[in-house]
Amino acid sequence: MRGQDLSIAKEFKEMGYGEALESDAAALEWLEKNKRKFGHFIDGKFTKPSNTFKTTNPANGKFLAEISKGNLSDIKLAVTSAVAAQKRWSSLNSHERAKYLYALARVIQKNSRLLAVLETLENGKSIRETRDIDIPLVVRHFYHHAGWAEILHEEFKDYEPVGVAGQIIPWNFPLLMLSWKIAPALAAGNSVILKPAETTSLTAIYFAKLCEMIGLPKGVVNIVTGDGETGEHLISQDKIGKIAFTGSTEVGKRIRKKTAGKGKKLTLELGGKSPFIIFDDADIDSAVEGLVDAIWLNQGEVCCAGSRLLVQESISEKVKRKIVARMKKLRVGNPLDKSVDMGAIINQSQLKKIGQMVSESEKEGAKVFQTNIKCDAKGCFYPPTLITDTEPSMEIVREEVFGPVLVFLTFRTPNEAVEIANNTQYGLAASIWTENINLALDMAPKIKAGVIWINSSNMFDAAVGFGGYRESGYGREGGKEGIFEYLKPKGHNSPKKVNRFKESRKVKTLDQTADSSIDQTRKFYIGGKQVRPDGGYSSKLIDKNGNFVTEVGLGNRKDIRDAVESANLSSSWSTTTSHNRSQVMYYLAENLSKRKAEFCAKLELFVEPKDAEIEVNLAIERLFYYAAWTDKLDGAVHQAPIRANTLAINEPLGVIGAISSESEPFLSFITILGLALSQGNRVIIIPSRANPLACLDFYQVIDTSDVPGGVVNIISGSPGELGKVLSEHSGVDAIWHFGSKKYFSEVESLSISNLKQTYVSDGESMDWSNTQSPVLKELLRRSVQVKNIWIWWEVLRYCLLAILIQN
Ligand code: NAD
Ligand code: MN
Repeated sequence: MRGQDLSIAKEFKEMGYGEALESDAAALEWLEKNKRKFGHFIDGKFTKPSNTFKTTNPANGKFLAEISKGNLSDIKLAVTSAVAAQKRWSSLNSHERAKYLYALARVIQKNSRLLAVLETLENGKSIRETRDIDIPLVVRHFYHHAGWAEILHEEFKDYEPVGVAGQIIPWNFPLLMLSWKIAPALAAGNSVILKPAETTSLTAIYFAKLCEMIGLPKGVVNIVTGDGETGEHLISQDKIGKIAFTGSTEVGKRIRKKTAGKGKKLTLELGGKSPFIIFDDADIDSAVEGLVDAIWLNQGEVCCAGSRLLVQESISEKVKRKIVARMKKLRVGNPLDKSVDMGAIINQSQLKKIGQMVSESEKEGAKVFQTNIKCDAKGCFYPPTLITDTEPSMEIVREEVFGPVLVFLTFRTPNEAVEIANNTQYGLAASIWTENINLALDMAPKIKAGVIWINSSNMFDAAVGFGGYRESGYGREGGKEGIFEYLKPKGHNSPKKVNRFKESRKVKTLDQTADSSIDQTRKFYIGGKQVRPDGGYSSKLIDKNGNFVTEVGLGNRKDIRDAVESANLSSSWSTTTSHNRSQVMYYLAENLSKRKAEFCAKLELFVEPKDAEIEVNLAIERLFYYAAWTDKLDGAVHQAPIRANTLAINEPLGVIGAISSESEPFLSFITILGLALSQGNRVIIIPSRANPLACLDFYQVIDTSDVPGGVVNIISGSPGELGKVLSEHSGVDAIWHFGSKKYFSEVESLSISNLKQTYVSDGESMDWSNTQSPVLKELLRRSVQVKNIWIWWEVLRYCLLAILIQN
């Protein structure tokens, strides 16, 4: 069969890959059996297909099936079913729920090959990936969460389910995203309505069949297919307690806006432009292999793709050569071919968008290198692409491409690498390559991203939280942190109204000055200094007997801007040791305690003396409480099933804009202050409108307690106006609003400017004085964001997680 004169060397050189096609027979047979037409899965049954649209195979343009587009009445039907089912589901004991999740894991595992093929047929990604990465991770996700279901009552004693979750997922990892949504929701006792992406519904429909097969109680899982319009119907349902979304930042912001003020929990997993950083002492060959995985996994259609390569200048030419050589070996083609590395792009419009972004960069002066690919002309194929000679201002460097396109940048020093890495509105992931563990661990906290991979990339596991900073969204999926997203603290709405001073009382002596010892116009406290209102306006503060107390400044936009600037400059508060922070907080408590009589007197002008004393005592206690927590809100070492540890560390949100409560005004003010200080946040607080005196005078205590200037800023004025300015300001990272409900919608709408985390709760229906309330701890948890740092402890570090866990 071979020529005698063919040397081994020559044969080796000419040796190519033969085609190794995975059979699609079983998947097609399943489609045929269903006449290639599908309805929704609602209340445990499939509806009759209606209002259908076509789904096709992006690798060859062939028709796959007709899918129903869900309308408002489909969604309403699903909501009714999910509401009823959730009551029954959450009343099952933990073990009963765990058994169902376990059964789902088992049945997916048994159907894994068919699911892998179906996923490849509809998405265009390679069978190598669906078989070895997607589906094994899906299975792992259900096993892991069967475990959480089992121990939920033990580990989350103070929490209860949110109710019905509405979930919307993208097309890039269809079944994996489904599992990331459904498994934790069910484990935590919720029911779900999930809408898959319009281009990839088939594996979700197959999953619905599997739910039927294992006898999952009807209505616990509902799948309604359709497009953005169907999604809009879903997010506008009042009876849905939580929305979980993965997809583009644009749609994420839209969802935030549409659900603003509706009291729904929300998690957003959005886009990214994640840096992949190679230092000159890195194991370059490993780094290049890691890079292939970072940007060419799933055709680069990965939210956390390492799409911005940062190489240390001294090795940049060498790295570039190695990348180009490696690119030439990547095989692009029929995704059912087991030896293909990269399959097809999801659809023509995405293909076009990628092409346009690349040619735009060329026009702007960048150099584009692409490999030659020979693929089915009817398929949506795009070659692996490397873009060099870029400028930081180019769209291709700043914006998410969501395709196999890598941009090449260089840096000189670690500090410069941090600066470039953080020069983006996104913050999903980062990959750091160096043999120097000190350097790697020095970099990890400095990069603003939710996931950091050290000497590795694109690793995921059910035990490890995943999610972004900044405009990459908020909330985490996976790990213990992911379960919290589907729970709320018990007794969240157990109002107790005390110390509420109503402004509306009759004013007796307007122009007359009362007690001269407290007569003084109250200024603001900004950047550690007393500051006069920029606008020069103030209002008269009237006590419970209708007497004039003092003038109080009315803050404006400029005052808020100054405070935000100061707060941003005081970032060293976030990096100082937690011990130092606790010392400062104890000092605050001690100094308040020394001046207790004085602060009681200030409050007594507005409330009964007995209540004033209770409030000040509780404020001192609250400072002790959050001081205690400074160095105790530990992260975790998550256990992914590989030779790596994942450090889940709690990092501060940054700058918090807070509107305090009208009830228990001093206690709520101190609670917010304590929360912010405890975990290293800086804060701008708007105190109660009617009773701000003690809060405004608290600066005296701050001044004598070693709190660095700018860490706490206090501005009085209209909560509506100031809350609005804080919500739109891009220098603010989170908004906490404990004022009137009427502001919530506006505040949450405006938060989309830079996707601030929001926490809104009617301060008057909160029981601030309840020291046992789980809300106190929940708020602490909400004052941090989790960063997961993956650290290998094995020299042979480049291997795919999923391959290992398959065994
Ligand atoms: P998309 O954000 O529009 O779609 C994601 C999901 O949201 C789909 O299920 C879609 O039907 C649904 N949806 C769309 N509009 C909606 C609305 N107004 N209300 C409720 N749900 C809505 O993403 P896309 O259009 O498929 O892709 C556009 C771009 O988004 C891509 O080019 C890529 O840059 C990015 N993207 C990011 C991710 C990610 O995971 N970060 C995933 C997919 C796409
Ligand atoms: Mn869209």
